[in-house]
Amino acid sequence: MTAPSTRYAFFDNRIVPIEDARVSVMTHAFNYGTGVFAGLRGYWNADEEQLFIFRPLDHFRRFLQSARLLRMELPYTAPELTAIVSELLRTEGYRENCYIRPLAYLSSHTITLKLNDIASAVTIFSMPFGQYIANEEGAHVAFSAWRRVDDNAIPARGKIVGAYVNSAMSSTDVRLAGYDEAIVLNEDGHVSEMSSANFFIVRDGVAITPPVQSNVLEGIVRRSLIQLLRDELGVEVVERNIDRSEVYIADECFMCGTGVQISAITRIEHRAIGGGTMGDITRRLRTLFFEVVSGKSERYRSWLVPVYAGAWKVPAALHDGSVPHTD
Ligand code: PMP
Repeated sequence: MTAPSTRYAFFDNRIVPIEDARVSVMTHAFNYGTGVFAGLRGYWNADEEQLFIFRPLDHFRRFLQSARLLRMELPYTAPELTAIVSELLRTEGYRENCYIRPLAYLSSHTITLKLNDIASAVTIFSMPFGQYIANEEGAHVAFSAWRRVDDNAIPARGKIVGAYVNSAMSSTDVRLAGYDEAIVLNEDGHVSEMSSANFFIVRDGVAITPPVQSNVLEGIVRRSLIQLLRDELGVEVVERNIDRSEVYIADECFMCGTGVQISAITRIEHRAIGGGTMGDITRRLRTLFFEVVSGKSERYRSWLVPVYAGAWKVPAALHDGSVPHTD
């Protein structure tokens, strides 16, 4: 996931060339993982020549909550961050799908292990982005031997930089063993989520997903799919613990998140799920989801913020003059 085409970043309260967005090795977050982040997608709609950001206000509300968990008081609101991202994407001039990575981090050069009375900063960069999982229509996954970080160790509902060592461990080990992704269990042995996505099974026509108390990240896509399943597909959704053995006998199984979008899981280790191909509910949900995120569903247009409509304006003061200003 290198990004040779990233040209700009929001850094030090301005949009600057990416080469100028640099931090010191003494930065607190670099030493201790004391940062929080978000991950959003922009979807290009060629018919409308429009780039839509998917649920940025919800992503930024969670981002600000994650920051609060680390005692960071950020000087931006969710609408302001949305305006900044829109401007950053306009500056990049994307006419393709992209990924957006906001980061808030403790920027002080102190080595003291503390979260209070310490400077923080916000930076945002983006990159063109297609599929994250190569095999979105039939992923082959495995249970990780690593357990999901517990909320009483590092807040699980925050996107906290240091906690992603846990995700990297789970994901790396199963990928090196030949699988696409990892299902991660809680310390109590129930399913929590994937290494960087939420998790659903379907049994007898009912969609089941672990509840938010299961050390899951409160995923924006998860929340969206629960609504789409109930309101559009008429599928009952239950949030409850899922046992390992239930996963093996599920009719359908899928993972969801900004990166993986909706990826069908058709094999787990040496077992096929359902018929071993994408199930009917997963297929219908994927079709609907891609219509929604690309602005083809009128009903869910309010989930999208258009980048090129000029609906969100940002003050010229955010620019330092070294990059083109698109207003
Ligand atoms: N769980 C984890 C651990 C994640 O990193 C992600 C990706 N942000 C998700 C779930 C899915 O969250 P979202 O739908 O908000 O992208």
